[in-house]
Amino acid sequence: MGKHEVARPAVFLDRDGVINRVTVRNGTPHPPCDAEEFELYEDVPDGCARLKAANFLLVVITNQPDVGRGTQSRQAAEAMNLKMQSALPLLDRIEICYHAGERYGQPCDCRKPRPGLILRAAAELNIDPRRSYVIGDRWRESSAISLRLAPSAKIFTGRSSKRSVIPSSLLNGHRQMQAVLRDPRRGERRSPLR
Ligand SMILES: [Mg+2]
Ligand SMILES: [Zn+2]
Repeated sequence: MGKHEVARPAVFLDRDGVINRVTVRNGTPHPPCDAEEFELYEDVPDGCARLKAANFLLVVITNQPDVGRGTQSRQAAEAMNLKMQSALPLLDRIEICYHAGERYGQPCDCRKPRPGLILRAAAELNIDPRRSYVIGDRWRESSAISLRLAPSAKIFTGRSSKRSVIPSSLLNGHRQMQAVLRDPRRGERRSPLR
């Protein structure tokens, strides 16, 4: 990729609870178990098309620690991602962390809220993080990444409070995508907060 190319803005999308439905068991949202269970929010393709038309790159960044824990097969996880990619051909890239974290002896630099997934995609696609957005359903994992990489990047979580988890019935990636498009400061290169 030539250095002369102008870096582009991206929207970094969480997967579970933003692109596809999650199921709530014991008050906690769980990702689908397999491709069969994987179901998009019906208005997400439209949201992606609008973001694309506004010149955003679209990158999915997702933690799938069940693979590292051994409670989901890598094959099942990959089948879901294939299903997502074919349902949303406008996606430019999917970055996945399969690690389960230090507690499972799998430290890594890519498990959100660490920034590895965004850094990988940004290097591959020449992304300007300062004009980019992160959409997630959990404040902690979404905000920490962006604040480290691009202190003034705009973050949209499932709800505005800093609580970590929201009920699946309230999740709606499309609504957050529309909020990106309505952002009056969209397109500006935002300078870091001090
Ligand atoms: Mg999520
Ligand atoms: Zn990882």
